[in-house]
Amino acid sequence: MAEIFYDDDADLSVIQNRAVAIIGYGSQGHAHALNLRDSGVDVRVGLAEGSKSRAKAEAEGLRVLSVAEATKEAEVIMILVPDQVQRKVYAEEIAPNLADGNALFFAHGFNIRYGYIEAPAGVDVCMVAPKGPGHIVRREYADGRGVPVLVCVERDETGLAWELAKSYAKAIGGLRAGGIRTTFTEETETDLFGEQAVLCGGMSHLVMAGFETLTEAGYQPEMAYFECLHELKMIVDLMIEGGISKQRWSISDTAEYGDYVSGRRVVDAHVKANMKAVLEDIRSGAFAERFIADQDNGAPEFLALRAEEAGHPIEATGKELRKMFSWLKEGTDTDYVEGSAAR
Ligand code: NAD
Ligand code: MG
Repeated sequence: MAEIFYDDDADLSVIQNRAVAIIGYGSQGHAHALNLRDSGVDVRVGLAEGSKSRAKAEAEGLRVLSVAEATKEAEVIMILVPDQVQRKVYAEEIAPNLADGNALFFAHGFNIRYGYIEAPAGVDVCMVAPKGPGHIVRREYADGRGVPVLVCVERDETGLAWELAKSYAKAIGGLRAGGIRTTFTEETETDLFGEQAVLCGGMSHLVMAGFETLTEAGYQPEMAYFECLHELKMIVDLMIEGGISKQRWSISDTAEYGDYVSGRRVVDAHVKANMKAVLEDIRSGAFAERFIADQDNGAPEFLALRAEEAGHPIEATGKELRKMFSWLKEGTDTDYVEGSAAR
């Protein structure tokens, strides 16, 4: 069983006695900065010159500096810019301003696990990774609760890294829910696998294949959309509330029997063999290398795939059908394809 830390296992004063820089003010950045500040921590935000986030952070009363200045002032530097730009921001603005005894913090292990960032001797490397998006991390903290976090230490140069990491986790509210002890390697590999094989890649493509199967057999696309996409939320909510058993308890016996006999026909040994191959590419670094090479080149493959998949017929069908759902909030169905939608 995993080791889990709670509020009583951490000393808030450790992080309250350090100057902290939050680099980036997006989904995670705003939540970390505001929760730390409200926990009595000395926080400044580091942003690129001309960043659109600057006004938002200043409106909250936070001090905003350049990434270099924020790093210089701080002893704990939490890097919350997108994974694919961390290497550049680190090399150009953070690394030259690090001092002995500083600690680098992350909310995902990608750049450390694959060696895109290598901290100098004398600098601790820690992770506090909330298991939820930033707006929930902020909302739960403000309501007196917290989102569970993963806590790990890759390098403990000062001998104080664990106390510091736990203290940070407590200050953002994570230890109210619980902090699971893990490693950069385990966090990175399981995170990438989960999103690729199951949560994002697996789920999207299962839905699309189901939609294609029905429409190719002559059924109306609206029916295929309802049966293969729309009802997912009900199923997932039941699983989150009470596991797969609660989902199976809630559905009809017909559906449950079909789950047993047909589920394993669809997700058969081939699917698991494919999952193992995906995991192997994550562990070998082949996935990371392909992603970063494409990003470094202006992301042509990424953008072509995004455009191709956005053109799938299920999307046009869904766009029309969702107008029937008056309870779906106004403005939540904007154009996500260009990445313009706020999170
Ligand atoms: P985001 O895209 O929401 O925010 C990125 C921020 O970085 C923005 O404020 C942006 O202005 C800033 N930024 C971009 N380029 C920059 C540059 N060159 N210099 C300075 N600032 C720059 O990112 P996010 O989703 O909060 O992800 C941050 C980290 O948190 C990642 O490591 C991610 O894996 C991790 N994480 C995210 C989530 C999540 O739900 N979003 C959950 C857990 C962990
Ligand atoms: Mg993830």
